[in-house]
Amino acid sequence: MGYDETKCHSASEYWRTRTGFVFDAIESMRVDTTRSIQCPFCGETEDILWNGDRGFAQADFEHKCPGCHELFTHDTLRAGKFLQAVNQAKKDRGYCLP
Ligand SMILES: [Zn+2]
Repeated sequence: MGYDETKCHSASEYWRTRTGFVFDAIESMRVDTTRSIQCPFCGETEDILWNGDRGFAQADFEHKCPGCHELFTHDTLRAGKFLQAVNQAKKDRGYCLP
């Protein structure tokens, strides 16, 4: 066993054709500099920079929503996703919480 460049290349091509994104995460951020994020407070969607001061890829990510002016972080986004899942589970008894 070892590194198989042919399989790696076919896997990355499969990823690229299925997702439209570059396989390498670092290269992908260089090509596509933003990520679309939905505000956990008002639901407005905005393209946010991956890098830069407090960008989405930074551990101390922080962003102020231009719609509702609430400040959110990775923790806020996680809490928002969890609350959405809880609300979905209340409506759909077959829904499994993540
Ligand atoms: Zn908002």
